Amino acid sequence: MAEQKKAPLKKGLLGWYFNFNLLYRILIGLVLGAILGIALGEKILWIAPFGALFVRLLKMIMMPIILSTLIVGAASISPATLGKVGIRVVLFYLLTSAFAVFLGLVMGSIFQPSADMAVLSAEAAGKAAANQSVANVLLNIVPTSVAQAVVNEVVLQVIFFAIIFGVGISYLKISKEERLKKAGDTLYMVFDGTAEVMMRMVTGIMQYAPIGVLALVAEVFAKQGSKVAGSLAIVTLACFLGYFLHVVLVYGGLLKLNKLSIRRFFKDAKDPFITAFVTRSSNGTLPVTIEAASRLGVSKDIYAFSLPLGATINMDGTAIYQGVCAIFISLTVTGHSFTLGQMGIIIITATLASIGTAGVPGAGALMLLMVLESVGLPVQAGTLVAGAYAMILGIDAILDMGRTALNVTGDLTCTTVVSKGMGQLDMEKWA
Ligand code: ASP
Repeated sequence: MAEQKKAPLKKGLLGWYFNFNLLYRILIGLVLGAILGIALGEKILWIAPFGALFVRLLKMIMMPIILSTLIVGAASISPATLGKVGIRVVLFYLLTSAFAVFLGLVMGSIFQPSADMAVLSAEAAGKAAANQSVANVLLNIVPTSVAQAVVNEVVLQVIFFAIIFGVGISYLKISKEERLKKAGDTLYMVFDGTAEVMMRMVTGIMQYAPIGVLALVAEVFAKQGSKVAGSLAIVTLACFLGYFLHVVLVYGGLLKLNKLSIRRFFKDAKDPFITAFVTRSSNGTLPVTIEAASRLGVSKDIYAFSLPLGATINMDGTAIYQGVCAIFISLTVTGHSFTLGQMGIIIITATLASIGTAGVPGAGALMLLMVLESVGLPVQAGTLVAGAYAMILGIDAILDMGRTALNVTGDLTCTTVVSKGMGQLDMEKWA
């Protein structure tokens, strides 16, 4: 991905800004914003529009990103490969991701991270707590109008349509009729191009993130004071403990069930793990993950399919993060956590969101927008939800390191286990 290529050093007046590591810039933005907000109080509120701009930029690209990346993701799986390997791999990815969201919600419920902000208006809180029957929730996934789903940002409906549309394209692509094949290829290229453009836009918008984060955090602290600071440490702790437990319980458990040594696995898995941690990109780490799979004795037929797919659709770390952060934002804004029904919605949305998350730095934070939207907590400039979301963004880089490391470890675990299950793992490499 573009983010991974060594960009040439920028010259000019703002060269110092662009050449300085983005991660540090965002962290500095966070700290500076907090200091300015506490020190200057109301006097710094003129900065608010700079934060609103950042939120608007993110929201602007949310729908196009979901549509284009999901359509391309679904269209990339050819119907023929959706056979034995495909179903196993995809099922594995989905189940582990769903469990990961669950684990995130458990971590959030145990740690109860919350920034002590004033409770939002009763109207908004009531909206967040609105109860829906299971049948209605499921029926609501199917849009009656695609255009309306997009315009009203009904994310689950858009995801549903995008996946089916993508699968439709994959059928066209393998059609024997020249006209249909051409149509399929053309559509694929259009959405692939759109997805690529969107990723470039994300990269560009992230350059503005330090300023946006500074402004949003300054606004929060100016209004709320320093009482919100410690809560971010709890969010971080809850996320990282969740990441750790997922490795031990899920990956360790699966390897053990398949009589594979966890030690042996990590001897090679540590390379992609560390690379992902520092690059914060599953896609960027892909070459390293592929090499590790080959050293682990996985058959190429399997890893060539499962690893690129996993780098795009399997995001267990991102899923845990969504669970913890959703609870943080709800507790902060409404004063209470979610109902069981809402947790069910979060598990579905966040699992699908982690599929739609591109394997690039910070993408998970964008998907958090749609998880929040699905439980009636839309991020709108000037609201408490936006404030709480900005606080998460301030530490997002740190959370992203851990979640990306978990994301690629999940891809590699699945690939190894499926390979073993199909008798295609070179056990000599495990002796
Ligand atoms: N950075 C993550 C990845 O590449 C995606 C995310 O932001 O959650 O896997």
